[in-house]
Amino acid sequence: MTSVLHKRFPKGSVLFNQGDVGDCAYLIDQGRIAIAVERQGKLVPVNILSSGELFGEMALLDGAPRAATATALDDTLVTVITLEQIQERMNNADPVLRLMMGMLLDRLRGILRGKPGSMRTVSTLDTKAQQAAIDRIKIETELRQAVDKRQFVVFYQPIVSLPDGLVVGFEGLVRWQHPEKGLIAPDHFIDITEQSGLIVELGAWVTERACEDLLRLQTWHQKPIFVSINISARQIADSDLAQKMADIARRVGVQPSKIKLEITESLLANNQGTLCWIEDSRTQGFSVALDDFGTGYSSLSYLHKLPIETLKIDRSFVTSMLKTPRSMAIMRALLRITQDLQIQAIAEGIDDASELKTLCELGCGFGQGYLIARPLPIADAVNLLKTSKGRIALPL
Ligand code: C2E
Ligand code: CA
Ligand code: CA
Repeated sequence: MTSVLHKRFPKGSVLFNQGDVGDCAYLIDQGRIAIAVERQGKLVPVNILSSGELFGEMALLDGAPRAATATALDDTLVTVITLEQIQERMNNADPVLRLMMGMLLDRLRGILRGKPGSMRTVSTLDTKAQQAAIDRIKIETELRQAVDKRQFVVFYQPIVSLPDGLVVGFEGLVRWQHPEKGLIAPDHFIDITEQSGLIVELGAWVTERACEDLLRLQTWHQKPIFVSINISARQIADSDLAQKMADIARRVGVQPSKIKLEITESLLANNQGTLCWIEDSRTQGFSVALDDFGTGYSSLSYLHKLPIETLKIDRSFVTSMLKTPRSMAIMRALLRITQDLQIQAIAEGIDDASELKTLCELGCGFGQGYLIARPLPIADAVNLLKTSKGRIALPL
């Protein structure tokens, strides 16, 4: 609970002194406040604030003592802003912004003291968090350059029908080809590209690459195959995304029906925009898959309402299925629902022969996982199709 409090200060009264511990900030409702700093033993006025202005916030933001003295010039009414109101916001703020704010406050305190060069290092972050924020700025800058220079590669993990091992499609999974560090997995950078908006450009590039590679893969398979592309929340925020992706596909010469767009289940939870996006994508001819099913907002109730064609059952379900009878019961029920609703089920992360065997017994239609094949560079994926003639021998 945030507490909002009004306080009245008579003309001439001191609200706080320089050096005091700060536990609240103030918003002036009526009256005027003089701000003064002590220099060589004298109070020097630096500002006069009036109705609608905020003061005393610096000490709340960085926890350092008050940088100035505040005195009421009139009978003054203020709204008190408590530390907890600010702290909640600070804790949720982007660490990079917090770092920058901490530095700005340091500088401002130096200027107020008349010693801009002699800054203390007061920070709104501890040293570890500060280093993390600096690393974060560096990696974001590197990523920006990497997107410009197209330093990425898409790997392809086969998706097969069960139990015959026929390759029905591939999931495109991006990697960062770092000039010094080598291949970097998406878990280390996708969220940064999402938060910085870089995912929009990267996603368009992945789409184009995946379409081109699908054409190559298809020439080595007699049956029609699809390629799956992962879409993140930030991309969906662009209301023209489906149209733009369809334009890319057509330019490359791929029908959108050969492309499956994977969105995570959690995006559905509170987002009307996601539902519109699914409709748009279907109108453009794409098929839509619900990824990581079981990890997010696991309500089955919306399944029948959505025009989705595929459910990707998360690896955690596949792993736990053989460990507890309860998980097995959930898996069985889930597969039955997908069959009743005629939704394709793809079990993800199959890395064990007993998991594969059980999924086949439960009637799971499709699977993907290290046991079947790892994500592969395009040349290896083509080779796999050539050598297997489009059917991977499963260890059943
Ligand atoms: P995801 O969509 O759930 O992709 C499946 C991840 O599981 C892949 O990790 C894959 O390598 C891994 N995997 C597959 N089979 C197995 C298995 O048997 N065992 C285990 N332990 N793991 C398995 P990867 O390639 O590191 O991708 C991680 C995540 O990065 C993806 O999770 C996806 O959310 C995201 N991602 C990848 N490429 C893109 C992209 O182009 N765009 C967006 N927005 N996200 C992407
Ligand atoms: Ca996926
Ligand atoms: Ca997944």
